Amino acid sequence: MKRIAVLTSGGDAPGMNAAVRAVTRTAHFHGVEVYGISYGYAGLLERRLLPLALGSVGDILQRGGTILQTARSDAFRTPEGQRRAAEVLREFEIDGLVVVGGDGSLRGAHDLARLGVRVIGIPATIDNDIPLTDVAIGFDTAINTVIEAVDKIRDTASSHERIFVVEVMGRRAGDIALWAGLAAGAEAILIPEEPFDLDEIVAHLLRTESRGKRHSILLVAEGVMSGADLAHEIARRTGFETRHTVLGHVQRGGSPTAYDRVLASRLGARAVHALLEGEGGVMVAVRRGECVLVPLDEVVRGTHVPDLSLARLARMLSI
Ligand code: ATP
Repeated sequence: MKRIAVLTSGGDAPGMNAAVRAVTRTAHFHGVEVYGISYGYAGLLERRLLPLALGSVGDILQRGGTILQTARSDAFRTPEGQRRAAEVLREFEIDGLVVVGGDGSLRGAHDLARLGVRVIGIPATIDNDIPLTDVAIGFDTAINTVIEAVDKIRDTASSHERIFVVEVMGRRAGDIALWAGLAAGAEAILIPEEPFDLDEIVAHLLRTESRGKRHSILLVAEGVMSGADLAHEIARRTGFETRHTVLGHVQRGGSPTAYDRVLASRLGARAVHALLEGEGGVMVAVRRGECVLVPLDEVVRGTHVPDLSLARLARMLSI
């Protein structure tokens, strides 16, 4: 293995830079050249490959976003686009590719693997919706951002005796709402993976109000409904004053937490080692704390399910 390349793709996630650094440094450690591909698969099709020297990944471990930039590419989704992408990699004599990204990016990696490209995927998305890994890079930072915001909202909610609805990201997944809701002591957490009963939530709010609770926080995953609609419905049914906040893209940004930096460093290094061992068509994953390789084929056919025991725990603790 003489030369490998790395790209970041899809939505950016804090810790992507730490992964790029780990890939680059591990490759250099083993005497392998590294190319960085700017703008994900779009950049690959446009031949935006540049060598990554050791020094080029200095001072990025702590930065959010991705120095390689990320993009979405419709051209790459087509068989013709993927064939051209594989050709570019051959042209640059790339022996192995590391793809850092979310669900869609890993599907793209799987398609390239089927064309004979030696590719290793690294799960990175704040949504945490990748099958067969306990966690993806960026999730921990995102939930910490959410709980910081919710803690602040609680201060104002308690001062004004209001119900606050906080809408969080996650696309079709409820992990951010679930983990941040439990960590921030939300009175109710609405996620797409579990049916909810608005009557029950309203009854709970009325019950807690009658025993003297003056404010409540509800977390709703964007995949369920909008925070505005939920706040409106709660106000209509309870007569309480409600407010809603959409946290939006702040959840994507910020310096990665220690957990995400360590995770990205482990996964980035493991990806390069996997290439050196002759592996391809796999994703580096975390299962019960262990770094393991899982076939991309299984990842793209799998379904992500959040830990629903956390939902039960949150309900019990918000009694
Ligand atoms: P996030 O979950 O954080 O948004 P993502 O990786 O899922 O990240 P997508 O926009 O879904 O983000 O995918 C990124 C890119 O991967 C797409 O622009 C496209 O080029 C490629 N891609 C997505 N889905 C597929 C697919 N089914 N087959 C091949 N390539 C795909």
